[in-house]
Amino acid sequence: MTANQIQPRTLYLVATPIGNLGDITYRAVEVLRQCEWIAAEDTRTSRVLLNHYGITGKNMISYYGAREAERAQELLRHLNDGASVAVITDAGTPGISDPAVRIVRLAIARGIPVVPVPGPSALLAALCASGLDTASFAFEGFLPIKSGKRLTSLKRYCAEDRTVILYESPHRIERLLEELESLIPERRIVVARELTKMFEEFLRGTPAEIRARMIGKKLKGEMVVVIPGISAHPLELPPPDADGGSQ
Ligand code: SAM
Repeated sequence: MTANQIQPRTLYLVATPIGNLGDITYRAVEVLRQCEWIAAEDTRTSRVLLNHYGITGKNMISYYGAREAERAQELLRHLNDGASVAVITDAGTPGISDPAVRIVRLAIARGIPVVPVPGPSALLAALCASGLDTASFAFEGFLPIKSGKRLTSLKRYCAEDRTVILYESPHRIERLLEELESLIPERRIVVARELTKMFEEFLRGTPAEIRARMIGKKLKGEMVVVIPGISAHPLELPPPDADGGSQ
């Protein structure tokens, strides 16, 4: 048996690109090609992705937040019948701020092997190039939306000794930067946007500096916010270039 050979009655968690379609492993393509079922957050989006790698005609099940419980039972039935099942999401690693945990737990509880097929994840891509401490970090995903809970969480993260990594949607990033501006006005954070894509960019500076740059350039897109721990040495930055010193 090789590591690339698909096993029956096995759940595979397959990481897919977060932007650049070249960021997929040989093994991921092979597993997706061979698995009997592919569970995807958005089957239309994933079919486009699979087509790109020449994978067509697969049995697909949509597996997303609102229907996760029901669809997990369906996947479990296929696994119990001896099928191999791969879970993918719209981007990155399943289970990381994305659906997967429910089917993973059901599979574990029934003794069904769960096999990760690792690859891209926005949190590690942002962290490794942030220049902040990578030895000890906390990934907190998306903040709560409601103001009270959100502020409580943010205060806790800003008091962390470890590097904190947050995901934020494009339409809430300005709000997050304003909140950080009031909590940690002096701290030099990093916003990683459009990772692996054409306009990939690392914005480094205080929350107010980054917000001003984003408003000035009308920057949008997917973003990861990386906050240094409370007692971390401040980021040493070169003087801003004429363009605002984004790298
Ligand atoms: N499962 C994914 C992963 O492994 O990174 C995360 C999915 S989560 C629903 C989507 C969030 O991840 C976005 O709002 C953004 O914060 C972050 N993200 C995903 N792709 C990104 C990219 N190319 N550049 C920057 N952030 C990204």
